[in-house]
Amino acid sequence: MDAKTAAFSLVLVQLCVAVTMTGAFYATRDERCTKYWATSGVLTGIGILFVLLNGGASNYLLLTLGNSAFVAGMVTQWWGIQAFYGSPRSRFGWSILAAFVIAYALVLFNGASIIYRNALFSATAGWIYLLCLMAIWRQRYGSVSFGRTLTLGALALLVAAMAARLTGVAFGLQEFVVSPAKTSGLGVIVVYFAPLIGLLLFSSGLLMLYFEKLVHIKHHLATHDELTELLNRRALVAGGERELELAGRTGQPLAVAYLDIDHFKKINDSLGHENGDSVLVEMARVLKEACRGTDLVGRYGGEEFCMVLPGIDHEGAEAFGKRLLEAIRNHRFPSQTRVTASIGFAIHTGAQPFQTWTQMMGQADKALYEAKDGGRDQLRIAPDLGSMGSNRLKRVK
Ligand code: GH3
Ligand code: MG
Ligand code: MG
Repeated sequence: MDAKTAAFSLVLVQLCVAVTMTGAFYATRDERCTKYWATSGVLTGIGILFVLLNGGASNYLLLTLGNSAFVAGMVTQWWGIQAFYGSPRSRFGWSILAAFVIAYALVLFNGASIIYRNALFSATAGWIYLLCLMAIWRQRYGSVSFGRTLTLGALALLVAAMAARLTGVAFGLQEFVVSPAKTSGLGVIVVYFAPLIGLLLFSSGLLMLYFEKLVHIKHHLATHDELTELLNRRALVAGGERELELAGRTGQPLAVAYLDIDHFKKINDSLGHENGDSVLVEMARVLKEACRGTDLVGRYGGEEFCMVLPGIDHEGAEAFGKRLLEAIRNHRFPSQTRVTASIGFAIHTGAQPFQTWTQMMGQADKALYEAKDGGRDQLRIAPDLGSMGSNRLKRVK
């Protein structure tokens, strides 16, 4: 491909990216990041318009406006990335833009060669791309993110392309950088193709990042309790069933703890529903702190919580339960409320296995009922499938 076609393709790609980003904003109007990215698209479009109006001539005003619009578009894209990660907009963006406009106007009105304008633009663009790269590099969403890898790769390419242009200027390769008609094959790649590919992948990567974030939020909403941020009942049951099946295969014990806050109705009545909610949130924190990373902790219902504890047998459950009850007893809940809870355990062991989650929870529920019946602030362990009668439940004070 000759240099002119490549240059035309680069402009077309920028235009397509601008249209796509503007479209993304219309689909997600209440998002700050897409608002910035759409603004960036519009600014790039304006830049293209001015450069086309200039048409290769040397209209100072059109050139300054066009190039400034491009730089403003890049700065806005960087702000969009900051908004995406929930960071405040960096005021430094304004400084970059102001410095570029002043420097570009000075270079232009002093009649300096086009090569200096080109160098100024490449240096500014490379710098902003580097800022975008660092903003994404610092953040980590989940484990592996295709969007993150794509944007980082694209930005590295863009930074490298701008650095190559600057190197061209530093070595006085004017034709290589600014004269499309005479540009060599390598020049076409560095000056047009690398930015073209970089820009395409960068914008696709940003949309991919956004898409991944939506999927993450959707999954989180479907599996977590809104108030306490613990697993919700559905996710806990699914996880519990998986752990029970795994325990059946590996022969490892598995404990399920069913916890209910004592006299929660009184807490609500004396402190109000809102403070009652705060107690639930705080309780979730206490439970999380008491559990291991591999345990599952969920809110089963109103003020009822459930913990799935792989590898925990009778002795382990007893020790864990006592520790937990004490931690709750000694914890300072909102409004200095004293809170206690009762726990019912069901233990799956190789010798006494549970076939289903429902069976196991049924036993834990019975044990919990016994703990309430026994005076609250205590735990009971249902040792095996045969112990359906409350008299055979293991009592632990
Ligand atoms: P005990 O378990 O010791 O027998 O007594 P309790 O008062 O805790 O018993 P019960 O299970 O009957 O009451 C639970 C209360 O929890 C009733 C309900 O108003 C309250 N509750 C349920 N969900 C929420 C919630 O999301 N927020 C608040 N603040 N209260 C809730
Ligand atoms: Mg209850
Ligand atoms: Mg209760």
